Amino acid sequence: MKRFLTAFIALVTLAWGWDLLSATAGAPAGTGTAWVVRQHALTLTGLWSFSLMSLAMVLATRPAWLERPFGGMDRIYRVHKWAGILAIAFAGLHWLVEMSDDLIKAVIGREGRLPKDHGGSFLEAMRDVAEELGEFAIYVLLAMLVLTLWKRFPFRIWRYLHKVMPLLYLTLAFHAAFLAPLDYWGQPVGALLALLIAAGSVASVQALAGGIGRSRRAAGVVEAVREPAPGVTEVTCRLDEAWRGHRAGQFAFVTFDRLEGAHPFTIASADRGDRRISFQIKALGDYTQGLANKLRAGQPVRVEGPYGCFELPAGTRRREQVWIAGGIGVTPFLAWLEALQAAPEKAPEVDFYYSVRRRESDPFVARLEALCAALPSVRLHVLSSERNERLSAETLRERGRHGRRAEIWFCGPQGLADKLRDGLRRLGMGGVRFHQEAFEMR
Ligand SMILES: Cc1cc2nc3c(=O)[nH]c(=O)nc-3n(C[C@H](O)[C@H](O)[C@H](O)COP(=O)(O)OP(=O)(O)OC[C@H]3O[C@@H](n4cnc5c(N)ncnc54)[C@H](O)[C@@H]3O)c2cc1C
Repeated sequence: MKRFLTAFIALVTLAWGWDLLSATAGAPAGTGTAWVVRQHALTLTGLWSFSLMSLAMVLATRPAWLERPFGGMDRIYRVHKWAGILAIAFAGLHWLVEMSDDLIKAVIGREGRLPKDHGGSFLEAMRDVAEELGEFAIYVLLAMLVLTLWKRFPFRIWRYLHKVMPLLYLTLAFHAAFLAPLDYWGQPVGALLALLIAAGSVASVQALAGGIGRSRRAAGVVEAVREPAPGVTEVTCRLDEAWRGHRAGQFAFVTFDRLEGAHPFTIASADRGDRRISFQIKALGDYTQGLANKLRAGQPVRVEGPYGCFELPAGTRRREQVWIAGGIGVTPFLAWLEALQAAPEKAPEVDFYYSVRRRESDPFVARLEALCAALPSVRLHVLSSERNERLSAETLRERGRHGRRAEIWFCGPQGLADKLRDGLRRLGMGGVRFHQEAFEMR
C-alpha cells in the first residue's frame, strides 16, 4: 500500500515538476521570492490533495477488476482509506499555504507577487465561487477526518456522514478545474488533472445514484438462523439467479435490514452450485449483538459480491503452508476446508493453527476436526488461551518443516498479526510470505 501511494504521489509530482520546469525556463531571473514559493506550494499541495481524493473516490466504487493487482477488496479499502486521509492532510496544508499571504505581505510586502491569470469576467466569477466552495469543503473534510480517526465514534453514524463525500468531491472538482493555472491545460499535468476530474466525477455520480456494486447484487431469503454459541449467529441464505457463485474464502456485503445497510461477512461455506451460502457472524458491535434474535427464516436478504482474493492457495506445494485463524477469522478457512472435501488429493501440506479463548466452548472446533479428518495433509492445532497456549513466531519456527520457505495465510485480530510479523522479522524469517484478510475497513 505504502509503495503504491508513494508511486502515485511521485507521478503527480513529476507532472507538476514538468510544468514548473517549462514555466521557469522562460521566466525572468530573480523570481525566487516568497510569493513564487507560495504559489508553487499552493499548486503542489492542491494537486496532491485533489489527486488522492480522486483516487479514493474511484476506489470507493468497489472496482472488482482492481482486486487482483491490489490483492483483494479489503486492501482496496485500505488504500481508499489512506488516500482519503492523506488527501485531507494535504488539503489542510493547501489551506495554510493559501492563508499565508497576509504573513508574506507583512514581512516582505507585495513586491514580487505573481499576477493572477486573466481569463475574462466569467472565469473571474467562477474562480471566486470555486475559492469559496473549496474553503467550505476543507472545513467539512477536516471534521470528517477527525470522526474517521476517532474510533469510538459510532460506525453506523459515520457511515451515513461518509455518504456526503461524493458531493464534496464534486465541489472540489469544480474548485480544481477553475483554479488550476491556465497554462496547465497545455501540459501533461493538465491531462492528468482532466483524467482525475473525469474519473472521480463519474465515480461520485455512480455513488450518488446508488450504483456501486449494482451489477453484483443478488436477492434471496434467509433459510435458517442458528446460534451455535453465545455471541455467534449462523445464517444460511438462498439466493436468486443473479448470484454468480463464489470461490472459497471470498466475502460479500450482506443487507438483512435496509435501514441498517450492508455489512461485510465472509462466506463461510463452499460453493455447491445451489446458490446457498452461509455466514458465521460474531457479535462485534451494535448491529451484530443479538443478531440471532433480529433475524428469522423466510425474511428477505440482499447480498452483494462476491469480493476478495483470500482464496485457497493453488500451485504452492513448493512452499510450506501455514494457516492461522484467530477467533471468528476462522470463517474463510471453514470455506476452504469444505471446498477441499470434494477433492482431498488437492489439499496442500498445511499446519493449521486455530487460536481460541476456550477450546471446550468454541463453536467451530468440532466442525474443523471433522473437516480435517478427511484431509490427512492438513494438521490442525487448536490453541486455547485459557490454557495459556499462545501462538508466536517461535512456535511457527519450531513446528516448521525443514528446508521449505513458509507461506502464511492469516485471518484474525490485527494485534496477533502484528505480533507474528514482528516476531518473524526478529527471528530472521523476513522471507516468509504473509497473506492477511483484514476484517476492518474503516
Ligand atoms: C472482508 C471482511 C470480512 C468479514 N467477515 C466476517 C465474518 O465472517 N464474521 C464476522 O463475524 N465478522 C466479519 N467481518 C467483520 C464484520 O463486518 C463486523 O464485525 C460487523 O460489520 C460489525 O458491525 P456492527 O454494527 O455490529 O459493529 P460496529 O460497532 O458498528 O462496527 C465495528 C467495526 O466493524 C466494521 N464495520 C461495521 N459495519 C461495517 C460495514 N457496513 N462495512 C464495513 N465495515 C463495517 C468497522 O470496522 C467498525 O469499526 C468481516 C469484515 C470484513 C471487512
